[in-house]
Amino acid sequence: MALLIGCIADDLTGATDVAVTFSREGLTAIQVNGVPDDTLAVADADVIVVALKSRTIAAAEAVAQSLAALHWLQARGARRLYFKICSTFDSTPAGNIGPVADALCEASGARLNVVTPAYPRNARTVYQGHLFVGEALLSDTGMCTHPLTPMTDSNLVRVLGRQTEHRVALLPHAVMALGESAVRDRLGAQIDQGCRHVIADAIDDAELRTLALAMAPQWLATGGAGLAAGLAAALRGEARAPADAAIEWPRGPGVILAGSCSNATLGQLAALGDSLPRRQLDPVCLARDPGAVAAAIDWAKRHLGDRPVLIYASAPPEQVAAAQAALGRERAAQVIEDALRAIAVALAQAGARRFVVAGGETAGAAVEALGVRALAIGPEIAPGVPWTLAADGKPYALALKSGNFGGPDFFSRAFEVAP
Ligand code: ADP
Repeated sequence: MALLIGCIADDLTGATDVAVTFSREGLTAIQVNGVPDDTLAVADADVIVVALKSRTIAAAEAVAQSLAALHWLQARGARRLYFKICSTFDSTPAGNIGPVADALCEASGARLNVVTPAYPRNARTVYQGHLFVGEALLSDTGMCTHPLTPMTDSNLVRVLGRQTEHRVALLPHAVMALGESAVRDRLGAQIDQGCRHVIADAIDDAELRTLALAMAPQWLATGGAGLAAGLAAALRGEARAPADAAIEWPRGPGVILAGSCSNATLGQLAALGDSLPRRQLDPVCLARDPGAVAAAIDWAKRHLGDRPVLIYASAPPEQVAAAQAALGRERAAQVIEDALRAIAVALAQAGARRFVVAGGETAGAAVEALGVRALAIGPEIAPGVPWTLAADGKPYALALKSGNFGGPDFFSRAFEVAP
């Protein structure tokens, strides 16, 4: 049976978010980490989500990886293509949403790219092309000081317009409200007018489903987990029956690694108080002291046990700004990601089996370091954040959290619901 949906996600936690969404909506989903090659055998599924780490790399490299993923998915008969981006549209004027979407359209022959990061369940809505997080415009949230992709403009037609040479149009709420056939007609007219990308308003799940029903299968769909849920609901009748083999979850010491500086993660770390052994990594110290990582590893090994160990670089905007002023934005992020990679590997060797990782880039680094190539989806800790099981024989359970996700008690809840 052909794949119903081939999905390419621009970061790892986003991939997990979309995989759990498809699975919650009744499609079987497998997540593959990194550009797969032909040596990777994956079970049959309705959806395969290829998790890239392409959100903030050079646009040309993001395009190359996305095209490689596209070809792999096409070889598995993918009937629809979904480009999963962050529900806060994380990107810079250089990309990578525009360049990757353009390349995917050209390589797949899609005449239109329908885009909406709306994810009403997580309070992301799009109205008149503007992205809201709860009641606030995106640019009025903590995203305006994100370490890698500061989002200072909420008008997505404008934001995407800076990332592509093709025309970007709006599918406004007034048309969405008229239903599926009006939406289909408008999208068809927008193709005739020479538009390549359409930012679609959506303020609730019903509108996302309408949009999914109105889209032609051969168009590219770009969005967050919200549009994916709409698409899954529209395609549910075509899903294969789920296999129900019992999953064996690894037991063993837990580790929390946090590199997200989002307000949500900072709040979640604060909520832990001193209930767990914790240690903060300072990027300036990491860059200057060659023994800093080994010292953190020694400390963590001594604390591995019944209670999870917490190691974090997460810091409020003024500390991030100071580190970036001292080291540069990329180097600050790099030293932290390198440190967390080394720590993940050392603690796995020391017996850690359950890893909770906060931050999309951070989780990508940790999973790559642990050599986990495929993930099966387990119970959800918070919307969009499930426990996952390494599906390639590695003995790890992983919970990969996008920075902004989860309630204040996320970290303690993770270990309460751990299977
Ligand atoms: P999110 O999911 O919140 O976007 P990410 O892990 O994707 O989180 O991105 C956060 C980035 O910020 C990472 O590259 C991380 O290395 C970097 N970072 C974390 N802590 C600091 C800090 N104290 N100073 C500078 N950069 C930091």
